[in-house]
Amino acid sequence: NQVLSEKDPEVFDIIHKEGRRQIEGINLIASENHCSKAVLDALGTCMNQKYSEGLPGKRFQVGNQHIDENELLCQQRALETFRLNPEEWGVTVQPYSGAISNFIVYTGLLQPHDRIMGLDLPHGGHLSHGYQTRARKVSYVSSFFEVNPYRLNEKTGLIDYDRLEENAKIYNPKVIIAGASAYARLIDYKRIASVAEECGAYLLADMAHLSGLVAANVIPSPFDHCDLVSTTTHKSLRGPRGALVFYRRGVKKVDKKGNKIMYDIENKINKAVYPMLQGGPHQHSIAAISLALKQAQTPQYKEYQTQVLQNSKAMAESLLKRNYTLVSGGTDNHLVLLDLRSKNLDGARMETLLELVNIYVNKNTVPGDKSALIPSGLRLGTPALTTRGLVEKDIDQVVEFIDRATHLVPQISKQSGSKVAEFKSWIQANSESVPELVSLR
Ligand code: PLP
Repeated sequence: NQVLSEKDPEVFDIIHKEGRRQIEGINLIASENHCSKAVLDALGTCMNQKYSEGLPGKRFQVGNQHIDENELLCQQRALETFRLNPEEWGVTVQPYSGAISNFIVYTGLLQPHDRIMGLDLPHGGHLSHGYQTRARKVSYVSSFFEVNPYRLNEKTGLIDYDRLEENAKIYNPKVIIAGASAYARLIDYKRIASVAEECGAYLLADMAHLSGLVAANVIPSPFDHCDLVSTTTHKSLRGPRGALVFYRRGVKKVDKKGNKIMYDIENKINKAVYPMLQGGPHQHSIAAISLALKQAQTPQYKEYQTQVLQNSKAMAESLLKRNYTLVSGGTDNHLVLLDLRSKNLDGARMETLLELVNIYVNKNTVPGDKSALIPSGLRLGTPALTTRGLVEKDIDQVVEFIDRATHLVPQISKQSGSKVAEFKSWIQANSESVPELVSLR
């Protein structure tokens, strides 16, 4: 980009270096992806410059005729992409990100201190489903609402639906969230919907990680069973950063007297977006989301998502072949969750070591972990590598690299001491003196 390089060489240089890092590295961060050049082009347009608070046709600023078209097109494509009937489902394309999209749902549907239930963060849930420890409310969601998470069965690594049901009957949440950041298996939305129905709760599916797979129809869709569905647009979906919240136009719930009432949640969600939580929508992102959604309706996209799943399965097989343990024993989606306890390793050391050889992964808690800072797991995802054209045999090679790095951890730990921080500073200072590490780069 010549203009940028001349106008601001400093910023240009940073962007250029980041581009190289992305190309030269092996990215297994399950929440990341590479979107198309067309999507990036749409982000850098005049759409960035317009204020458009409110909804199409009802804006607080004038001059929005083209912006309205932009937003309506994006809504239409979002519904088409997920095969939804516009008479039953509506969508807001305005949320800035995934975390705020979930907060929009809570703000729209709940009063402060109403109760919610989501998958516990250390068991694979997300901060925005409400996370608190005994000592503090880590996510602000837990300050505004009362949160009682459900968890995995620690033996199977699967969501403990029975306990979820037992606890929900006692706790009576108003919103149940079905969704995760680090769960390798399909979620039984139907089962959770029956729990939500029993306690009169709204069921929100947060399909942020899965929306690309759902769009391509290669895994089951949450829409049949849920009242609302939120998603980011930049993970498996492969668009720009942003988020969508889908809502049923009418939702039947039981009121306090036991009567079934039809609630209109469209208004509540739109008001929660603006004026309650956000200001002007990012119309350049909305244009770029439209582009990504169009791409998500093509046969090539279905092939891509099919390959994401095949690569994830190949990754699980390659790891099992090398005697690694996987939480839940395998995968049905785009990620695997590796439990390193059987290898006497931890995720923090592995993440640090792998970064040094340009392999990017996430350390992750696994059921039974005591510390989120030194967790025993690694989360490995295939969306980004699949976008770059890698197939099963390449994934086996990537696992081979990871395995070679794994063997170095005890060796380096011996020299660097027992603490993760010491391990980190040792390898930063001495990485050149470990020939196996140098060869891995
Ligand atoms: N929901 C889930 C399930 C996620 O995994 C994430 C992010 O990783 C989010 C929400 C938040 O998305 P964002 O980072 O765009 O706020």
